[in-house]
Amino acid sequence: MTDSSGSPTSAQPTAPNPADRPVYVIGGGPGGLSAAYALRARGIRAVVLERSDRVGDSWRRHYDRLRLHTTRRQSALPGLPMPRRFGRWVTRADVVRYLEKYAEHHRLEIVTGVEVTRVERTPDGTGWLLHATGGRELTGAAVVVATGYNHTPRVPDWAGRSTFTGEFLHACEYREPKPFAGRDVLVVGIGNTGAEIAVDLVEGGASRVRLAVRTPPHIVRRSTAGWPAQYSAILVRRLPVGLVDRLSRIQSRVALPDLSAQGLPRPASGLYTRVLEGAIPVQDVGLIDAVRKGTVEIVAAVERLEGSEVVLADGERLAPDAVIAATGYVRALEPLVGGLGVLDGRGRPVAHGPRTPAGAPGLHFTGYTNPISGNLRELALDAERIAKAIARAGGASRLPTT
Ligand SMILES: Cc1cc2nc3c(=O)[nH]c(=O)nc-3n(C[C@H](O)[C@H](O)[C@H](O)COP(=O)(O)OP(=O)(O)OC[C@H]3O[C@@H](n4cnc5c(N)ncnc54)[C@H](O)[C@@H]3O)c2cc1C
Repeated sequence: MTDSSGSPTSAQPTAPNPADRPVYVIGGGPGGLSAAYALRARGIRAVVLERSDRVGDSWRRHYDRLRLHTTRRQSALPGLPMPRRFGRWVTRADVVRYLEKYAEHHRLEIVTGVEVTRVERTPDGTGWLLHATGGRELTGAAVVVATGYNHTPRVPDWAGRSTFTGEFLHACEYREPKPFAGRDVLVVGIGNTGAEIAVDLVEGGASRVRLAVRTPPHIVRRSTAGWPAQYSAILVRRLPVGLVDRLSRIQSRVALPDLSAQGLPRPASGLYTRVLEGAIPVQDVGLIDAVRKGTVEIVAAVERLEGSEVVLADGERLAPDAVIAATGYVRALEPLVGGLGVLDGRGRPVAHGPRTPAGAPGLHFTGYTNPISGNLRELALDAERIAKAIARAGGASRLPTT
């Protein structure tokens, strides 16, 4: 790995001869690293450009309590299993260790401290020109964009947000419950992150924890009698949506208590229907118990902020000491590739994995879906498919054979 100064062999300026151009991989997270490995395994030179100073930056910044919701085996990247000692539900710190090891083990060519700001077609149409920090211009035979589904924190445009006098943070800034011990906290949003942070706050000694919910989510047990929810998700993902919705409704009635009295009724629309709309189910890591016991109180969605108060959709006013917005992320691909006509109305790539958008041969995207079967699993599968497609297209610089 090299730093932003780059070694003479990494991130060289524009290669004049198309045959000398590597494949540039933008982003040194699991998606980018696995794509770089799969390319290297096919003898193709791949250079990973990572804006931070180390690989796996997203995982370094997640909250401490986090463990993978997907199993160790179904979360490993191609070419290197995760060690058994990591256990079935791998900790955040072990994910970081694994990604470091992965880059080292496969001797991936990584340049850190380089942020790609824009991608465009080379004037002669034979490759891709990347503009990066420090005025760099790099020409690749192909590009794999792997900047992450959770790229930029999203905070709803609540009225009164800028004049709110209470403490306010996005979930991406939350690390541990200690700073909130003895305090009244409102968590906004019941995705996996909001649900888990609420439980963490209770266990960490917050005096009161409320969770603002707009749409009740589907909740699933992480595993039932030793069978992980992810395995069921993998098995059912190709079945008709209506059938999966019906099966999951039955399963939920059998396996989960009714929390309507506590403000969490069973969702009106089916589990798989919601997944296709972009809402993956919440894996229970203590939320059900906390809601049942009343240690996490469910309240209505946030409507606006007023001074030190939060006004909810049902008119209730709260005055928490702190608000944590677990309100998701945006892909933020527009500055990077917005000019190329490769994004849909929601800012997502129109083609994914091995397929490339029309008129953009060699431009691949990985990691911009939220699959029920687990993102890491799908990133790993896509890495191989992307490398195969790039190898088939030809034209990229080959690694010297030893
Ligand atoms: C809290 C949380 C828990 C999750 N748990 C699971 C789980 O249990 N199982 C699972 O399968 N998935 C999980 N995911 C989803 C997904 O697997 C991870 O987000 C995973 O890290 C995605 O990998 P990625 O490489 O696509 O993106 P990231 O890991 O976000 O990596 C993107 C990289 O690109 C870099 N970058 C961004 N922009 C640029 C640029 N312009 N130039 C250069 N570098 C750039 C970033 O610094 C970063 O290092 C979770 C996600 C979150 C947020």
